[in-house]
Amino acid sequence: MTYLEPAPIKDKENPLESMMSRFDAAVKILGISDEMYNILKVPARQVIVGLPVTMDNGKIEVFEGYRVIHSTILGPGKGGIRLDPDVTLDEVRALAAWMTWKCAVVDIPYGGAKGGIACNPRNMSAGEIERLMRAYTLSMLDIFGPDKDIPAPDMGTGPREMAWLMDEYSKAKGMTVQAVVTGKPLVLGGSLGRTEATGRGVMVSALSGMEKLKLNPYRATAAVQGFGNVGSHAAALLHEKGVSITGISDISGAYFNDKGIDIDKAMAYRNANNGTLEGFGGAEKIDAEELLFLPVDLLVPAAKEDVITKNNAGKIQAKLIVEGANGPTSAKADDIINEKGIMVVPDILANAGGVTVSYFEWVQNRIGYKWTLDRINRRSDRAMKDAFNNVFDISQKHKVPMRLAAYILAIDKVSSSYKFRGGYG
Ligand code: NAD
Repeated sequence: MTYLEPAPIKDKENPLESMMSRFDAAVKILGISDEMYNILKVPARQVIVGLPVTMDNGKIEVFEGYRVIHSTILGPGKGGIRLDPDVTLDEVRALAAWMTWKCAVVDIPYGGAKGGIACNPRNMSAGEIERLMRAYTLSMLDIFGPDKDIPAPDMGTGPREMAWLMDEYSKAKGMTVQAVVTGKPLVLGGSLGRTEATGRGVMVSALSGMEKLKLNPYRATAAVQGFGNVGSHAAALLHEKGVSITGISDISGAYFNDKGIDIDKAMAYRNANNGTLEGFGGAEKIDAEELLFLPVDLLVPAAKEDVITKNNAGKIQAKLIVEGANGPTSAKADDIINEKGIMVVPDILANAGGVTVSYFEWVQNRIGYKWTLDRINRRSDRAMKDAFNNVFDISQKHKVPMRLAAYILAIDKVSSSYKFRGGYG
């Protein structure tokens, strides 16, 4: 086969390389032609811009910005904007592809995209970040659009930056265009339920997995790594469904209580304590990595990438892993986990609740109507449950783990859509 070279990726076993190796495995099972392989691998559009910004000291600094639209086969590009000193075009390319697969798995009519600006937002004033975001938006006027490419927050950006983007784009178009971006503040057309959406999807995925494994939530125990947006909401919602959360962790360390941790108390403590669990009294402090090896039914890695590796996967005791974070399990750890018979609900399925509610935000903006929280939760729960069942059925049919099944589902959907559209040949 004459495959095009994949985008070079920095480290040895980094999450993006792991993702591409799973992509390759799914392509093999599907028997995708080398022409189609290249169509799916090479981004549809890649933009690099220079962004001159007047800094607070009066000097002009030029930042480099990127936007990669990996695919528009299923719909407009969709993906966040990352502000990070180390962001590169290669990284943005791989993250954009990841978005294509994630949107396809949850069956939302979007392609995949991602943006980045190489800068350190922690060393910049709000005014400098605002001017940078506005410059980036202006330079992407012919890229962004509610029917073309819809950005969202990612590392280093949030509702504030999305508001500036929406405002700059709207000014240039001479009208308010809310649907050009998601993750906006509520008053500017943001959606109810977006904050907890990813954690909620993790909860739905976990309960769906437990059902298949015949684990009763009221008798199940769980450990959650990371107590930020995803981890804390997932823990709280699982707790609400009867699961006893015996372990939680964050950057300050890990906390264990075999009687179950009071998650509301832990969240209140974190909120009053600069965002960390340091000094939390409702549990015993344990070694941070030990959290992964606790004797629990469910493990939810919801902190960062590459935490379950070939070096520690053998020690995991959980029967079910639900990936709240992006890329928490390295490809080499997969084999060990599969051998142990642990069910993994992979990131491109388990944490897709966030992009699903982003899609609902865009729908609400387009119809000019606000949905209730109840409607949003019902619809996103259904989308997550359907996606889980579809992936599970494929895993049974092909006798492959859930992760590979999710890639098979996504790649099959995008490639067959391409064929129906007739390509451009
Ligand atoms: P966040 O910044 O709100 O929280 C991250 C949490 O992880 C914090 O509690 C932090 O203290 C903790 N942490 C950091 N390093 C740790 C370590 N070594 N051990 C234990 N805990 C550690 O971030 P988030 O939005 O919750 O995102 C978490 C993960 O989920 C990321 O991989 C992100 O890409 C992914 N994700 C987030 C969303 C979303 O909607 N927020 C959607 C999809 C995927």
